[in-house]
Amino acid sequence: ALHDSLVQLRGNIRVFCRIRPNFNTLLPPAIQYDSLDCDAITIGTDSGLLRKFAFDRIFNESSDQIDLYSEVEPLVLSCLDGENVCIFAYGQTGSGKTYTMDGPSANPGIGQRALIQIFQELEKRKNQIEFTINVSLIEIYNEKIKDLLDPTNQKLELHLEKDGRQRISKLSKHSVDSVEKVQIILSKGRKNRSVAATALNDQSSRSHAITMIEISMIDNANNSISIGKLNLIDLAGSERVAKSQVSGQQLKEAQCINKSLSELGNVVSALRRKQSHVPFRNCLLTRILEDSLDGNSKTLMIVQVASEKPSIQETLSSLNFAEKIS
Ligand code: ADP
Ligand code: MG
Repeated sequence: ALHDSLVQLRGNIRVFCRIRPNFNTLLPPAIQYDSLDCDAITIGTDSGLLRKFAFDRIFNESSDQIDLYSEVEPLVLSCLDGENVCIFAYGQTGSGKTYTMDGPSANPGIGQRALIQIFQELEKRKNQIEFTINVSLIEIYNEKIKDLLDPTNQKLELHLEKDGRQRISKLSKHSVDSVEKVQIILSKGRKNRSVAATALNDQSSRSHAITMIEISMIDNANNSISIGKLNLIDLAGSERVAKSQVSGQQLKEAQCINKSLSELGNVVSALRRKQSHVPFRNCLLTRILEDSLDGNSKTLMIVQVASEKPSIQETLSSLNFAEKIS
């Protein structure tokens, strides 16, 4: 109950931290956490100063996909009440964003677990509720949208529609009616993302991938229709690229990523502070998600960090991002 009231106090935005295990035990870890203060971590900076960062929840190296999903579950379930939910994974390349969102097939991440649970819940209510579930997968690279489930789909653009909402024109939607179909769709999208990645030298770490799940429900008992949306966003790597070291295409990529991540931070921070003006329109990522990021929807930012010492600068910059939106 204490946790629930905390959640209410903090509004609809929560920030989690997940620490990726240190695979190279020769490298010392840079992050410490206090077992008595389990929602904060301490990190030693180069200057020897210790800095402490607090989160709504922290998942350390020994937390697994099930531990994480159990904290995400209430958000997924709220989509079945017609809510809009966005879950982001933020962090430098290699910090575990894709592991958290997709995960290996033997130990899946949030996406597959969420879809399985949505089916199970709707199955329980099927005497009363008729439902359809549609999935779309997109990638944003250099401020352009790509349809990961239909790569031939060209020139996708955001359009302002008559109802004042922005939608991506011609985006393919795929209805799924079983867990098997979900698995086929998700693995197809992943394959299309990685095909582009090898051709263009791991583009995947420099693009945002969004899995959009739309659940339409007709309640036969009171003839009401509701739509819940779950957006799962595997963000581009947050590492800072030194301008002196890149040029041309790479510089453009770096600028697009820096801008969209900082605009996302501004939007989440404005929402958390309940500011009247939320700057959605400054980049494609926040424009696409505007519909699902407004004041009534729920947002979770999972800040991923690598625990080993060589990553300390990037880890600090990710923790600073988290602090800014908290
Ligand atoms: P990112 O998407 O942020 O670039 P990845 O998700 O690809 O990072 O993770 C980098 C590597 O670390 C992958 O081999 C992944 O399987 C592994 N990894 C990440 N997080 C965990 C974790 N919590 N437990 C075990 N392995 C992990
Ligand atoms: Mg990744």
